[in-house]
Amino acid sequence: MVHFVGAGPGDPDLITVKGRRLLEGAQTVIYAGSLVNPALLELCPEDCRIYDSARMTLEEVIQVMEERHEAGQDVVRLHTGDPSLYGAIREQMDRLDELSIPYEVCPGVSSFSGAAAALGLEYTLPGISQSVVITRMEGRTPVPEREKIQSFAAHQSTMVLFLSTGLLEQLSEALIEGGYPPDTPAAIVYKATWPDEKKILCQVSELAEAARREDIRKTALIIVGRVLSGEAYQRSCLYDPAFTTEFRKGKGRDEDGK
Ligand code: SAH
Repeated sequence: MVHFVGAGPGDPDLITVKGRRLLEGAQTVIYAGSLVNPALLELCPEDCRIYDSARMTLEEVIQVMEERHEAGQDVVRLHTGDPSLYGAIREQMDRLDELSIPYEVCPGVSSFSGAAAALGLEYTLPGISQSVVITRMEGRTPVPEREKIQSFAAHQSTMVLFLSTGLLEQLSEALIEGGYPPDTPAAIVYKATWPDEKKILCQVSELAEAARREDIRKTALIIVGRVLSGEAYQRSCLYDPAFTTEFRKGKGRDEDGK
């Protein structure tokens, strides 16, 4: 069995209890060395075989999984954040299906959650934005035409951009062209939850300049939207004294909260 495990965004305490147990019992671990905190590997038993996938091709990763499976062993495939986002797990699962090797996924705390925590931010503020667009600039990996930054920007909802730190001039242009006013608040969160985490608040038009000033070139998320502005939002209905819910009877107004 292969266990795809989300390592969390950096802080080794942010792996799930299940992920930790899997590492503590692992005979073989293949970890994404470019982003997974190596401190997590200290949880593995002394005699655990450890491979850094940053130096491996998909074929080599699958070969290790296949060899270990034939030897009757489980493999932990440790991915950064949550494996479902930009994790390249589908291609591994498809090969494992072809080889009839079973697998399961143990989710992790994505860096977009780590970044919100670092900023003390709620992405979904009533009256401001109730949606989060998770996307990226096109790099070597193509992005479908219908998912261009400009088309998402038209909604002016909260946006979180992965894998885009090297393309901030173009990102700002696309965001503004698509509909965000140039002074829309933005944040750059570098290495969220790591000891050397950095967070910078700026405006959409200033992203490239702000990253240059702080010498940030990779391992960062860009967050855009008025939820960063500190402006007035609506308080939640759920915790409004006048609002009746399944668990609590409201006082003073009718059940619709009018
Ligand atoms: N599956 C991962 C994302 C992998 S793609 C997740 O759920 O977080 C790699 C990109 O994620 C990086 O280029 C960067 O944009 C972002 N990233 C990963 N870890 C990060 C962290 N600790 N802080 C900020 N951005 C991070």
